[in-house]
Amino acid sequence: MSALEQKLTYLTAAGRFDICSPGECLQLLPMTLDAKKTSQTPEILPVPLDTHRASQEAPGGLEDPNVRTVIAPYIPYNRRTGGCGRMLKMLLNGTCSYDCAYCAVRTQRELVSFSPREFADTFLRLWRDGLVEGLFLSSGIPRDVDYVMHDLVETGEILRRRGYGGYLHLKVLPGAIREDIRDAARVADRISINLETTSPDRLGDIAGVKDYRQDILKRQSWVAEEKPGGHTTQFVVGAADETDAEILSCLADQYRRVRPSRVYFSAFRALSGTPLASHPDTPTWRARRWYQADYLLRDYGVTADELRAALDEEGFFANRDPKVVLAAGSAPVNVNLAPRRDLLRVPGIGPKAADRILALRRVRPFTGSADLARAGIRGKAAGRYLTFGGRDAVQTKLVL
Ligand code: SF4
Repeated sequence: MSALEQKLTYLTAAGRFDICSPGECLQLLPMTLDAKKTSQTPEILPVPLDTHRASQEAPGGLEDPNVRTVIAPYIPYNRRTGGCGRMLKMLLNGTCSYDCAYCAVRTQRELVSFSPREFADTFLRLWRDGLVEGLFLSSGIPRDVDYVMHDLVETGEILRRRGYGGYLHLKVLPGAIREDIRDAARVADRISINLETTSPDRLGDIAGVKDYRQDILKRQSWVAEEKPGGHTTQFVVGAADETDAEILSCLADQYRRVRPSRVYFSAFRALSGTPLASHPDTPTWRARRWYQADYLLRDYGVTADELRAALDEEGFFANRDPKVVLAAGSAPVNVNLAPRRDLLRVPGIGPKAADRILALRRVRPFTGSADLARAGIRGKAAGRYLTFGGRDAVQTKLVL
């Protein structure tokens, strides 16, 4: 393996990203970490031949068996192509001088890094060969943050100048200057800065170097101004022992102030060699419940105050869909009379199904499970939370 390929492999390993990566590819983590534990080569899925460029580039492209055997094994490939597909997730620098207690990058002593030009050359080769379709680029911070952020931006600018038109996500580093954030927003499709946790005190417990207000919240407000509708953030659920009530307050504040287009939740996983190595892992279901709760806030019109009713006395979600928990504590919804907002509170009814109900009930009222099926709604999920009485009829609870 050439020195370049070694670097590519090292800096692409998902286990080294942990907290600096967005959540889209977190399913890659267990695969890589398991492989590390057993000191085996990670199981890498083959890159399919039917890529969009395969037919355009024959010599030296995918048809060249050398390219496939040398490069392809080092590119994580997400089986769930509806997510990030062939997204190359890389660190520009594979070590860091910061002290985030949950992060394995800080434990790497050897400085392995790409220069912007070297990385751009490498990435463009992979892209032109059809082996990658998108790029998420982050970095450890081995030296002054301005230098590293500038390198991230410069990499993006080189790629664009040289014809790369695909998806580009650049990480904004804590403490980055406004000018670099503006340039990152100009060159990338999406930018992000991670909150990691919910408050200055909580962050102080797990990442003492970062100033929550200055390095993260202030920079995030610049990110939102420079890339409205095109920025994301992430929580590491459980790393700082925060409650779900704290996450909920923080999330509500996010949607009120900076409106991230997506929020990612990764369940904290203890990594050996870090100060939190003996901290209990967060069960993955907790992150899953947070994705469900976030949908309720973002797409279903549920307020943070309403969502609080799904928390237990200690401020945590149970391992149950928060929408089901809220519906179980509420009165049944009349499918023929309820406004869209109330229909959306019913488990099994999403925005599209609610719109179908509104359209169909204008023609004739719903009378039972057959009408729900006509609207594409699974009766067993929704039926127990619905009634079918018309304006003048006696309400009848559906029995399925
Ligand atoms: S800033 Fe923190 S989380 Fe990011 S690479 Fe450095 S130590 Fe890891």
